[in-house]
Amino acid sequence: MTPQTTGPARYVIIGNGVAGTTAADTLRKGDPQCRIDIVGDEPYPLYNRVALPNVLKGKTAPERTIIRQIAWHAQNRVELHLETTVTRVDTERKVVTTSDGRDFVYDKLLIATGGRPNPLRAEGVDGVKGIYNFQTLDDTKAIVARTEAARAAVTVGGSFIAYELTEGFRHRNIPTHWLVRGPRFLHRIVDEDGGALVDQLAREVGVETHYGESVVSVEKTGGEVSAVMTTSGKRLECNLVGVGVGLTLRTEFLRSTPVKVNVGVVTNEYLETSVPDVYAAGDVAEFFDPYVGTHNQMGTWNSASAHGRTSAQNMLGARQAFDEVPYYTSTMFESQMAAIGSTPDVRPDMEAISRVDMNARVYRRLFFYEGRLAGAVLVGDIRVRRQLMDVIRGRQVVPPEERAQLAAV
Ligand SMILES: Cc1cc2nc3c(=O)[nH]c(=O)nc-3n(C[C@H](O)[C@H](O)[C@H](O)COP(=O)(O)OP(=O)(O)OC[C@H]3O[C@@H](n4cnc5c(N)ncnc54)[C@H](O)[C@@H]3O)c2cc1C
Repeated sequence: MTPQTTGPARYVIIGNGVAGTTAADTLRKGDPQCRIDIVGDEPYPLYNRVALPNVLKGKTAPERTIIRQIAWHAQNRVELHLETTVTRVDTERKVVTTSDGRDFVYDKLLIATGGRPNPLRAEGVDGVKGIYNFQTLDDTKAIVARTEAARAAVTVGGSFIAYELTEGFRHRNIPTHWLVRGPRFLHRIVDEDGGALVDQLAREVGVETHYGESVVSVEKTGGEVSAVMTTSGKRLECNLVGVGVGLTLRTEFLRSTPVKVNVGVVTNEYLETSVPDVYAAGDVAEFFDPYVGTHNQMGTWNSASAHGRTSAQNMLGARQAFDEVPYYTSTMFESQMAAIGSTPDVRPDMEAISRVDMNARVYRRLFFYEGRLAGAVLVGDIRVRRQLMDVIRGRQVVPPEERAQLAAV
């Protein structure tokens, strides 16, 4: 074990996304003397991932997404090491090692590494140009450059990322086929009615939707994608493919440590991992969620930011449980959509109640756990989001007659 220093505390943060950067900010405010090193493998200081769909649409300039300038780090004495990958952690000696051979000794360590998007797996896909994931600012710049010459696009996936790609392409007037492997968009949380409404919204703006379909093989011309073959044997010509088929959380550098990893880095409600002085926050944390009494993993900006704050406060000596209702709002073609709190992908035993009005294009589905509202998904009119978040926070049992009222559209 590295002896505890008598000097200022040394904090090392892996990942300079919103979780890691919020943690650095909180640590600096709570301990003016401490040393903070933050290691990130992208070339940028914190930028707003939530704004990337607007960059894709051409509504926001790439540089406008940067929300923490390099100068902020210098002013706050946060040592930022960009384009640097953490390859190893030794929790016995309390040392983090990077790809360029540097060692960072820590007293407390935060893992805030998010996830890496899964690539498209299909025959003939290797090395073919024109196929993109959508996770980083660099991905977005590359896709935008490609859209200039795009004649037709295919998007793959039933998640928000696949939706954002589809909407970005159609916003640029690129004819787009959207392949969803499941029976509908977000099929684990949206029922048939909700799926039908999303489908209607997509088709109204000219998107061709295909369910139960994925890409089985890719055709190329001169090294560039020229068509894809789908599961059911359709051949779709395209010179742009957008892929949103989930993330693999980035934990590879923990392999030789006793830090417990399941899908993500497992933590308790204080965001402490199974190893003392090691914490996890943001997308990569599989944290104990008191709202649903089980471990949970989120992919929302507000929960990543709140995780960063809570983990840092606990690293500073507080004992604060994570207690925030996550939410994700986005456009849904010409409409809007929100997902709030916890959904049945986390606890399949939740009760669900839903209402739809196809004419008004409004859909609401609420999820109850042990009689309490735990989450919701809304399409169309999402103004009720704040009220529902308050009900979730209140943790009161909602009687059956009031449940129907809350769900009414
Ligand atoms: C296109 C897009 C749109 C989105 N839209 C919304 C939205 O509308 N609403 C919403 O709530 N959420 C949205 N999200 C999700 C939201 O952006 C994420 O939940 C949030 O950014 C997660 O923050 P994080 O800090 O946990 O991880 P990340 O932002 O992923 O940051 C982790 C950082 O760590 C780096 N890293 C990983 N491993 C290492 C390593 N070994 N060494 C060094 N660095 C490493 C990564 O490269 C990355 O820079 C969207 C995401 C995307 C991609």
